[in-house]
Amino acid sequence: MTTTRLEDYRRIVVKVGSALLVDRRDGLRRQWVETLCRDIAALRESGSDVIIVSSGSIALGRAVMRDTGLGHDRGLKLEESQALASIGQIALAKDWSEALSEKSLVAGQILLTLDDTKDRRRYLNARATIQQLLEAGAVPVINENDSVATNEIRYGDNDRLAARVASMAGADLLVLLSDVDGLYTAPPDKDPDAQFLPHIAEITADIEAMAGDAGSDLSRGGMKTKIEAGRIATKAGCAMIIASGKRDHPLRAIAEGARHSHFEPDASPVTARKKWIAGQLDPAGRFFVDTGALEALKSGKSLLPAGVRKVTGSFARGDTVAICDHAGFEFARGLAAYGADEAVQIAGRKSSEIAGILGYSGRAAMVHRDDMVLTGAQIALNEDE
Ligand code: GLU
Repeated sequence: MTTTRLEDYRRIVVKVGSALLVDRRDGLRRQWVETLCRDIAALRESGSDVIIVSSGSIALGRAVMRDTGLGHDRGLKLEESQALASIGQIALAKDWSEALSEKSLVAGQILLTLDDTKDRRRYLNARATIQQLLEAGAVPVINENDSVATNEIRYGDNDRLAARVASMAGADLLVLLSDVDGLYTAPPDKDPDAQFLPHIAEITADIEAMAGDAGSDLSRGGMKTKIEAGRIATKAGCAMIIASGKRDHPLRAIAEGARHSHFEPDASPVTARKKWIAGQLDPAGRFFVDTGALEALKSGKSLLPAGVRKVTGSFARGDTVAICDHAGFEFARGLAAYGADEAVQIAGRKSSEIAGILGYSGRAAMVHRDDMVLTGAQIALNEDE
């Protein structure tokens, strides 16, 4: 039996799937939500921050509109699902707010689009709002902004959205509550030999293969997006649990030994440092680099002086600097291996010339790859593709 003490985690993101929250006929499953809110209140009591990522806007909108033309059972057109999301989201927000307030908790709603987690400035804004809500003792309730997000700009599933939120909020645990109780070597309903995996130390190619094929509509919100969520979360140093929400008190049940799969976070010190670097709000300087360096950095290499075209700002060795492309778009952030005066002198020069210019042989890289994190759209795209 695997048990996990949830109260040992400092900040927990709980993702709740539509099927758990909404009954097609009756709307919100109030009694179940009440038991979940009781678990959340208990975690808050023992000192953990909790963030809810709630699906259900479209499903609840459908329940609200069941007696109208929009309530049909056929596939939904984009604008129909957006209208339903708009109707459902307002009901969902009210329901969460009421359910949490019964436990003396205040809810704060945030609706995100993909761009809010990919664009650095918007990412920082959203992160600051989440942080402020938590500091004020509120429970952020987050969903994708389904009524405006069209296909090209939407996640489409809340598994990956929740993982992004976990990474953005510096959470140390992400719990995916849905109708599956964990990861199996094969789909358990189709393969009698499928084995349950209680503990996943690392998301290997084998694990990814177990999640099945990519791209089909049916895999949305299935095991594939859960494994992708695991990749995003564990890379950000956040553990992940896949557990069934088809029981009352779904969080307490995990601690009491209900079946679940536990994914270990990537805890390398480099990850921790990179998280810290990414979290620095005000870089002291900027390196403008050429396209060769930009490509090299995107493929995981260090920034060499030769690729730096211009240096601005005043910073000492070890300070955080922003790394920008020629147009000034920041795509990485790192710790400068040289102070501003020296960086200006060696910018654009070969590493072998450093000793001649500075009078001592310093580091070959201007910013070492272990001290650097890609922060702009580039990294987000790489992670998701
Ligand atoms: N954001 C969608 C909704 O609230 C749900 C996406 C998902 O279920 O993963 O209806």
